[in-house]
Amino acid sequence: MTDDVRTRTGGASGIGPPLWLLAELTYRCPLQCPYCSNPLDFARYRDELDTDAWIDVMRQARAMGAVQLGFSGGEPLVRRDLETLVDEARRLGFYTNLITSGVGLDEARIAALREAGLDHIQISLQAADAEVAAAVAGSAKAHAGKMAMARAVKAAGYPMVLNVVLHRHNIDDIDRVIALCDDLGADVVELASCQYYGWAKLNRAGLLPSRTQVERAEEVARQWRERLAARGRDMRLLFVVPDYHAERPKACMGGWGAIFMTVAPDGSVLPCHSARELPMDFPDVRERALEDIWYASEAFNRFRGDAWMPEPCRGCSERHQDHGGCRCQAYLLTGDPAATDPVCSKSPRHELIVQALDESSADHREVEGLISRHARNSRILCRG
Ligand code: SF4
Ligand code: SF4
Repeated sequence: MTDDVRTRTGGASGIGPPLWLLAELTYRCPLQCPYCSNPLDFARYRDELDTDAWIDVMRQARAMGAVQLGFSGGEPLVRRDLETLVDEARRLGFYTNLITSGVGLDEARIAALREAGLDHIQISLQAADAEVAAAVAGSAKAHAGKMAMARAVKAAGYPMVLNVVLHRHNIDDIDRVIALCDDLGADVVELASCQYYGWAKLNRAGLLPSRTQVERAEEVARQWRERLAARGRDMRLLFVVPDYHAERPKACMGGWGAIFMTVAPDGSVLPCHSARELPMDFPDVRERALEDIWYASEAFNRFRGDAWMPEPCRGCSERHQDHGGCRCQAYLLTGDPAATDPVCSKSPRHELIVQALDESSADHREVEGLISRHARNSRILCRG
C-alpha cells in the first residue's frame, strides 16, 4: 500500500494514536554489554538530535495523544540536556521514565531530575556477583556505582524498577540477584530474559540458557514470590520467559505501529527499538511530521492488520493475539520480515530455534569470550 492511499486520521483509518514514545537520546554508553539491543552499527550514528529537535518530537507526540515517555539509549545520562528534556516532558503532561544503567548518576543529578519532574527510574543490573557484572559490562567500577545509585534513588523517594537481563552466565545465580534487589529496596524487579536482537543475536550461542536453567530459575522466582508475600514485602517480581523456550511468540510491541513509537538518536522513527535491523527505510522526524509518519508512512503501515500475513498465520485463530510474532526476529532468523516468527511451533521454520538451542548447548564460552558492544567492534563488524 502506498502512502497516498492512506488516511492520516486515526478515526477514519482505524489506527489509534501512539500511546508510548521511546526517546533513544543517544547510542553512546560507557558500558559494553554483549546483549545490548542497540544496532551493531551504532557507531555510525553520530549526528544526534539536539535539544530543540527532541522538544519538538515530544510536543508532536503529545499532541497526537502519547502519554508515556521513556528516555533511553545507549545511556541517556550522557546527554547533559536530559534535565531540560524531562522538564519539558513534565510540562507537556507526559508520565516519564528514565531507563538507565545508573552510570553517570549521582545525588545531585537525582535531585535535579526530581526537580525537573521525572516520575520513575529504572536501573539495569548485570548480575549479583561483582566479577560477573564487571565482565558483562566491561567495567570494574560500574557495579558498585549502581548499588550506591539504587539506594540513592530510593532515598530520593522514587518508585524503583530494577531490570536484570537474564542469560546463561547469570541465570543460575537468580536467587542472589533477587536477594540483592530486595536488599536495595526495589519496588519492581524485571527478570528479563535476553532478547536476541542486535548484539545479543551476534552473541546468541554464548548467551542462550538451557531449558533446565530456565525452569530452575522460574521455580526460584516462584518461591521468592511466596516468601515476599509471607513477609508482606511489596516487591513485584516479573519473570519473562525467553521466547526461544516458549511455544508461541510474544505479541511484539502490542502489534506493529499499534501503540508504540521509538525515535532513534538520529531522528529515525521506528515501530520498535530493534526495527532498524530490518531491510526497510524508516522516516526521519527531521524531514517529516510525526503524525504523517505514524498514520501514513509505508514503514508504519507495512505490518499493520493481518493482510500482510503469510500462512500459517493468515488462517490461524491466534493471529489477533500475537500478530504473528516479532518482525525483527522473523527477519533475523529467516531473512524474510513477513515470515511467521520461527519461535512459533506452527512455523515451517521452527527448526531454526531448535538448531539455535543445540548450537548454544555446544558452546562453552566464558562471559569474557563474548563480543563486547563498543564503538571499535561496531566499526569492525560493519566495515564495508
Ligand atoms: S545494554 Fe548495556 S551497553 Fe547497551 S545501552 Fe544498556 S547499559 Fe549500555
Ligand atoms: S501461526 Fe502465526 S498467528 Fe498462529 S500462533 Fe503461530 S505466530 Fe501466532
